Amino acid sequence: LIERTKRVDPKVKAYVHFDPAPVAAQKSTFMKGPLAGVPISIKDNITIAGWETTCASNVLRGFVPPYDATVIQKLREAGAVLFAKCNMDEFAFGSSCETSCFGPTHNPWNLACVPGGSSGGSAACVAADMAIAALGSDTGGSIRQPASFCGVVGLKPTYGRVSRYGLIAFGSSLDQIGPLTKTVEDAAILLGVIAGHDERDSTSAEVPVPDYASFLGKEVKGLKIGVPKEYFVAGLNSEVSGSIKAAIKVFQDLGAQIVDVSLPHSKYAVAVYYIVAVAEASSNLGRFDGVQYGLRVDAANLRDLYFETRSEGFGAEAKRRILLGTFVLSAGYYDAYYLKGLKARTLIKQDFDRAFQSVDLILSPTSPTPPFKIGEKMDDPLSMYLSDIYTISVNLAGVPAMSVPSGFSQSGLPIGLQLIGKPFDEGTIFRAASAYETATKWNARRTNL
Ligand code: GLN
Repeated sequence: LIERTKRVDPKVKAYVHFDPAPVAAQKSTFMKGPLAGVPISIKDNITIAGWETTCASNVLRGFVPPYDATVIQKLREAGAVLFAKCNMDEFAFGSSCETSCFGPTHNPWNLACVPGGSSGGSAACVAADMAIAALGSDTGGSIRQPASFCGVVGLKPTYGRVSRYGLIAFGSSLDQIGPLTKTVEDAAILLGVIAGHDERDSTSAEVPVPDYASFLGKEVKGLKIGVPKEYFVAGLNSEVSGSIKAAIKVFQDLGAQIVDVSLPHSKYAVAVYYIVAVAEASSNLGRFDGVQYGLRVDAANLRDLYFETRSEGFGAEAKRRILLGTFVLSAGYYDAYYLKGLKARTLIKQDFDRAFQSVDLILSPTSPTPPFKIGEKMDDPLSMYLSDIYTISVNLAGVPAMSVPSGFSQSGLPIGLQLIGKPFDEGTIFRAASAYETATKWNARRTNL
């Protein structure tokens, strides 16, 4: 992997920090644990003690956290090897990895295309065979959309399934850490390692973690899979819709029952998300003021120090979100935007509750299009925001969902399928995804890097 990384990462640029030296140091611990000796790469918004953690933002340059995130501690206990941190959109704001202060990551299947975002580096390093697996984070699609763009498996666990301690917060009511892997089995193994209650994250749930491997290799006969009628509409790329329709046929042939479901409030999901998520982001980013972390631009007085540091440190998308978030929370607008957004969020959640009374899983596209070109959407934030039209309602509802490779476009770009589960029922997602993967083997194809 080290040799491979040296050869291909100058083209892909998936890593913002790469240091093979710790691998040698960790060799003595290789022989212990379920991940003994397995290299896992980490998104740069998850803290590793003693490693610079930037969130791909100039405002955090030079910030070296003194502690490990809980997921890192769990990976270490399982014997995993850490040697790289992955590029991302600045503070996880984006769907293309282009808002990174380090410059964009390139899609390993076509270097002119984006890898998706915000966990673009995490998806690209796995697709480019530079890591066995990676951790990413998902607030509105940031694990699943890049997984789909890079042809890998990506899981956003149920909100509360995995500790957020040591994940630099974006939207605290939405964020979850999850695995990006080459196979469904690897995702099951990795989730088993990182999941579970943590007293250092009060939102992590006290729900037992099952043996996820026990869900693999099972039949899907009799499983009820819902297909939301609102999700196959104008704007959905024809190659993506063809791939999803073919996947529905595969599930039918495997004996699953396909059922129409309705998620009528999903049409509000993008609007609601860009109220709730930016409100939380503006609040979470308040702490980056030049005093406590990373960058400091000295000035004549404290107020100017805050102002200069934040002006210089944050990129354009981060500033846009701080402004939007501050606006929707401000007196006079709070009720009209933020409170209304929360009410609509409840309706979106209730749609899922209702649908899950009659089905075990919900199936949809992950992204409305195959990977787009670098630069294509950077001047059009709304079109970028619409890349998450199928993923963000899942975060608003707090349910788990996975993107699994479901084919390739005519030009050879990966397409992904999304399987959404009931709260804390990642197991049924693994069961269906592993049956589908075995039947289709889309993950067997490799890039020609
Ligand atoms: N693309 C979405 C956004 O820009 C989601 C990002 C994420 O999940 N972190 O907010």
